[in-house]
Amino acid sequence: MVLALRKAGVTDTRVLTVIEQLPREVFVPAPFRHAAFDDVALPIGHGQTLSRPAVVGLMTEALQLTPRTKVLEIGTGSGYQTSVLAMLSRRVYTIERHRPLLAMAEQRFDQLKLFNITTKAGDGTLGWKEQAPFQSIIVTAAAADVPPVLADQLAEGGVMIVPIGNDASSQAMLKVVRVGTGFTTKEMRAVPFVPLVPADTKKEAV
Ligand code: SAH
Repeated sequence: MVLALRKAGVTDTRVLTVIEQLPREVFVPAPFRHAAFDDVALPIGHGQTLSRPAVVGLMTEALQLTPRTKVLEIGTGSGYQTSVLAMLSRRVYTIERHRPLLAMAEQRFDQLKLFNITTKAGDGTLGWKEQAPFQSIIVTAAAADVPPVLADQLAEGGVMIVPIGNDASSQAMLKVVRVGTGFTTKEMRAVPFVPLVPADTKKEAV
């Protein structure tokens, strides 16, 4: 798997080491466990998927985490990306709209003794105002545009990684950096993600 990550362009040895150490099979439903160490996306229920390790690696590397970083993650899903972040930062705040997915992810964090993760069920497009600003924000579902509320919660010099685009064929990964009152935006590379459900979706997911 580390070979696949290197091939995809991940060079940060801390990121590679953490992905090598973290047992991906813990995050995958039983029928797919045989494929846990292949560089493929896998279903996690509720129509959602666990991203390819190469994508997790590239997004994590782009966040430039240090042991002092406070991270916000939107879309906990299985908790795999969350765990990678937790192993490389001070604390991760993560939001997921599907409560059953979040409950399973929380069990995994306990099992892996990752105690620097704070979770919340709800709409991630609103961010986490009480804990802002964040040095790093990662959105693990594709948005139509850079969510402005999230950009506002970035610290000075902070980095947000967000996949943009409505369908899998036209997605790009953006790196947004806060510089003073403005932002710089750089396109990274195309990757398929499930959609980030917009803020006006009234009904909470089950
Ligand atoms: N990073 C995850 C996979 C993410 S799949 C992993 O490692 O397993 C994308 C997740 O984003 C899904 O679980 C989906 O329910 C969640 N999501 C989509 N829109 C959201 C929103 N507005 N707020 C919170 N979570 C959202």
